[in-house]
Amino acid sequence: MKVEFFSLNDQYLNIKKEIDIEINKVLNNQSFILGEAVEKFEKKFASMNNSKYCIAVNSGTAALHASLSVLGIKSGDEVLVPSNSFFSTAEAVSLTGATPIFVDIDTNFYHINLEDAKKKISKRTKAIIPVHLYGNPVDMFKLNKFARQHDLLVVEDCAQAHFAKYRNKFVGNFGKTGCFSFYPSKNLGAFGEGGAIVTNNKKLYEELLMYRNHGSKERYIHEFIGHNYRLNGIQGAVLGVKLKYINKWNKKRIEIAKRYINKIQQSNRLILPKQSSSAYHVYHLFIIRHKNRDSLIDYLSNKGVQTSLHYPIPLHRQKPYRKTNYFKMNSENIAKEIISLPIYPELSFQKVDYVSKMINSYE
Ligand SMILES: *Cc1c(COP(=O)(O)O)cnc(C)c1O
Repeated sequence: MKVEFFSLNDQYLNIKKEIDIEINKVLNNQSFILGEAVEKFEKKFASMNNSKYCIAVNSGTAALHASLSVLGIKSGDEVLVPSNSFFSTAEAVSLTGATPIFVDIDTNFYHINLEDAKKKISKRTKAIIPVHLYGNPVDMFKLNKFARQHDLLVVEDCAQAHFAKYRNKFVGNFGKTGCFSFYPSKNLGAFGEGGAIVTNNKKLYEELLMYRNHGSKERYIHEFIGHNYRLNGIQGAVLGVKLKYINKWNKKRIEIAKRYINKIQQSNRLILPKQSSSAYHVYHLFIIRHKNRDSLIDYLSNKGVQTSLHYPIPLHRQKPYRKTNYFKMNSENIAKEIISLPIYPELSFQKVDYVSKMINSYE
């Protein structure tokens, strides 16, 4: 049996009719940049997320960079980020001129570890970016308490966690802003690059609208240096259709995750993902840890099962950040043990069972 790590074909075919109609509307009214489809999507996304405002942008990286910039993060400042995340969590900090400070991760959920964060606070620390990694929300009660104690701004990286909840509240509503990515493979994916920021603060909302549009509210009048971070109309149309299905798709991911957890045998060599009872985890990724990771990957590959790594190299070991002196962190050991198994709404239970069986048969 062949099990692809990821596939978008079936999802597109299932909703092709609706998508084609909405894309055609954009083509007919020629609203290629922002426009009606984007505005409609912003309103619906904000309302579904119980957020007051949503600003659509053209990537998750743009969402993070715009948020940090509008919050005044600048050269000389430091921002705490987890050492296990996608590169752009740190890159967005560097783009403002500030310095990302890499914090170790906890060994249960692979989230930013607040004990280590405490050791890394300095007079320059201005903000912290919790990443709801793999779709699993960070304990935002603890994190916000920590941020209050140390007077830090909180920007949530929700790129992998559309409509995940911590204690019944959607992620993105705990910090100053919540930053989403609509990269095609994310739980909610565009047909190209896309992203969004949610906030409950009107002033931030107004500044972010201008930031994404060259610091401008009125055409050709620029109040500050911003960026071109506008979402295009076709992505607005696609995302508007997909929003109707996201809850159903997230539920499918959760069912698949539960099935893996039931079928795969945990051992002293294999660790399954842990789930907190306060979190609604939307399983963007399904990560197991194995002591013989590389050999298990080869074994699965020979059995037709594709896997991936999220992420193979911790951020503080990436070339642009390597010069900074960090003590050895848990994130380095964990990076050598993690494997991402296939998970997406259209993945059949038959394939989930096959992957589980192959893992159990590995000796
Ligand atoms: C995907 C992702 C981003 C970046 O989003 P883009 O839309 O690709 O720019 C940021 N952070 C995390 C955790 C991500 O997974």
